[in-house]
Amino acid sequence: MASHRLGVPAPIISDRQFSKPLMCGPGPNDLYPAVAAAYAAPVISPACAEYYKVIEDIRAGIQYAFQTRSNLVLAVSGSGHAGMETVICNLLAPGELLLVPSRGLWDERAKDMARRYGIRVETIKTSEPFTTFSLEELESALERHRPAGLFITHGDSSTGTLQTLKGLGDLCHKYDTLLLVDIVASLGAEPVLMDEWGVDGAYASCQKALSGPAGVAPVAFSARADAYYASWQKALSGPAGVAPVAFSARAERSYSGCRRRVCVVPEGAEQAGRAFSARAEAKIFSRSHDVPFYFDITFLARQWKCYDDTFFYHHTLSSPLLFALRACLSQLAQESLPRAWARHAAVTAHFHARLRAHGFRFLVRRPEDRMNAITTVLPGMECNTFVAELRSKAWSTEVTKDRGEWKRKTCCADPHNAGGAGRRREKDSTGFILIIIHGYRHNIMITPGLGPTAGVAVRVGLMGANASAAVADRVADAMADVAGLRNATE
Ligand code: PMP
Repeated sequence: MASHRLGVPAPIISDRQFSKPLMCGPGPNDLYPAVAAAYAAPVISPACAEYYKVIEDIRAGIQYAFQTRSNLVLAVSGSGHAGMETVICNLLAPGELLLVPSRGLWDERAKDMARRYGIRVETIKTSEPFTTFSLEELESALERHRPAGLFITHGDSSTGTLQTLKGLGDLCHKYDTLLLVDIVASLGAEPVLMDEWGVDGAYASCQKALSGPAGVAPVAFSARADAYYASWQKALSGPAGVAPVAFSARAERSYSGCRRRVCVVPEGAEQAGRAFSARAEAKIFSRSHDVPFYFDITFLARQWKCYDDTFFYHHTLSSPLLFALRACLSQLAQESLPRAWARHAAVTAHFHARLRAHGFRFLVRRPEDRMNAITTVLPGMECNTFVAELRSKAWSTEVTKDRGEWKRKTCCADPHNAGGAGRRREKDSTGFILIIIHGYRHNIMITPGLGPTAGVAVRVGLMGANASAAVADRVADAMADVAGLRNATE
């Protein structure tokens, strides 16, 4: 053994006693059992044929979940923010204008990211807080600013609002604007129809209604890619009736070695209501600005075999995350989108009815602006205290043997001194056997508000594995207990 003097001693890293809460915040969410099992699958590498089967399944699963026929569909390594970064930096060039109708934290994040890329940003606000935008409001902003892109959050987990997207793609395209959408908190819980709505770039995350782990973000770019790519390939062999598109040096290198060439897109690719269907893809493959290596979709498309049977090493994908994402998408496909949407809608309606019956009020005033799956609630007391109590209001039961008889006494305990959930056996001062059981009365994790809702509301998520009437009842009753709206349940 080499003799090196270690200046830093080995730390003691050991497991602590920990009672997993029921995860009912806006994410991360509890895993579906099948996803947890898939997450523990053995590590594989691109050298295994199975690796590409998993990738193929994931791409098909994303196409179904997003309802898109685009081929430019893959998962980015990283959480939802990685998806946000990928969509923004691949679709907008420095100096271009991004319009961000802002109603919550994620729009603010998008603005921040865009500025870091040198993208100019304009914003509009909703006329009233905790509402959504009308198409008229969005159109007048599009007309005024004529941006290259419009970024909008579909389900905003910071406010609990859901933005209607139907018709927005057509509006954006009328003004020559690409539509970029955050579907992190809505995918799987709310209808998302990427192609029908004319969305040009969308990203999600695994840790919300898909009930998977964070760390891998499904992403899709518009382009009825089959048609477009077929025409693009045809164009390489030089058909007539074409509009020229210059490939950037980077795209060129990534596709065909180091020769500079000019490619053409047949006019046919713009027919049949597909005038803008290839916009995002066309922009990506013809851009002249550089994007960060890690998020460069022209490389990622090759790694994910989006078009051809390419083999390209970009970075090491995490195979446990790939297996987990595949399991999430398989779960969604088996349940089917309409059933998953209906389940989330029914559970949310039930939860809201229970909360109303307990006397809670909602932050989002208009029911039509409310999301399924994530609800912002006015707790009637200080938000952080409410959240902490729901998590850690502890109880402690002492079971003693007194003159041959077992006796049980339950009391509220200071959660910080309750010793965590568990059971201890000891003798009391008189030598009697004493069993102390500690636990949390509710042990439910919800979260305080974020961004515009910080200190104002709490956020409750009933999604994926936790979108059930039983969980809704448990959470509603526990919330009422903590708020003192109902007698405590033992
Ligand atoms: N967008 C929305 C709507 C979200 O709810 C979140 C996460 N709460 C994000 C983006 C960012 O995702 P992540 O934390 O996985 O990076």
